[in-house]
Amino acid sequence: MPKVSIVVPCYNEQESLPLFFTETEAVLRETGCDYEFIFIDDGSTDETLSFLRQLAMRDTHVTYLSFSRNFGKEAAMYAGLCSADGDYVAVMDADLQDPPSLLPQMIALLESGEYDSVAARRKTRKGEPPIRSWFARRFYHLINRISDTDVVEGARDFRLMRREMVDAVVSLSESNRFSKGIFGWVGFRTCWLSYDNVERAAGKTKWSFWKLAKYAVDGIINFSQAPLSIASWGGMLMTLVSFLMLIIIIVRRLIFGDPVAGWASLICVIIFIGGLQLFCLGVMGQYLAKTYMETKRRPHFIITETNRSDTRRIR
Ligand code: UDP
Ligand code: MG
Repeated sequence: MPKVSIVVPCYNEQESLPLFFTETEAVLRETGCDYEFIFIDDGSTDETLSFLRQLAMRDTHVTYLSFSRNFGKEAAMYAGLCSADGDYVAVMDADLQDPPSLLPQMIALLESGEYDSVAARRKTRKGEPPIRSWFARRFYHLINRISDTDVVEGARDFRLMRREMVDAVVSLSESNRFSKGIFGWVGFRTCWLSYDNVERAAGKTKWSFWKLAKYAVDGIINFSQAPLSIASWGGMLMTLVSFLMLIIIIVRRLIFGDPVAGWASLICVIIFIGGLQLFCLGVMGQYLAKTYMETKRRPHFIITETNRSDTRRIR
């Protein structure tokens, strides 16, 4: 039987962790596979870490890593994937929004040898604020149009991957991580399981609307160069238009002796072009900032406490 590693990023999840662990453990036991849990405490300020300490003492299947501060879910997932040593590895949220009941089916699909990864996607966004769903749909539509990487709508980070795929994902060691894009970028044969949205078991979501908006912009910048192309094509078009306008003005002045009036329209044009230039500079700045952070090659996270002995593998 294969060994299954479950990677769980946790940020202030004291309410949901006990529920998550009981339910997921029961499902895994039933499959008969060997398994391990890797909990990543992402700088929680509640009792998450002490719960994990106790759990690890009670159960040898449990290991945990604790970060020195909140590094974000992406960093936590990366840490977990780096240290997981199962044949199959799954990333799951601690709030039971990723139904553990899908695991047996996922394992069976990988065992059949037809797929390298089985991923879950929500059919509906029931229970979510409508405005958030609307923006989410626009985001998927946009990123799929302007990026070569396939980002499936409603896809969760919840997926069970074969060792080869995990190694591929880990080998992409960029510090601006956008996992939904990375999973698509590495390829492999993926099977999609759809399920109805499940609401959080306990606690509350860690994503504010603005945090999500920033995540969406990061996703686009990380996986598409389209904004840069749009800026340069737009600039070229504007130059062409202004050149044509210049010719019209000269012709009007020379042939019809008609000086162009209009101070107001001039100011409008100046402000418009100024705004456009700043916007394009901003777009370039975003890419430059990402490049800057990338060149620093800072570690993705800092681990201050763990019960694993093999942390040297982790960066
Ligand atoms: N999470 C994390 N670090 C963060 C934010 C979230 O490790 O900075 C974890 C969180 O504990 C949970 C998962 O990421 O296990 C998903 O977070 P959440 O349920 O808040 O997001 P949502 O399901 O609302 O998108
Ligand atoms: Mg959640």
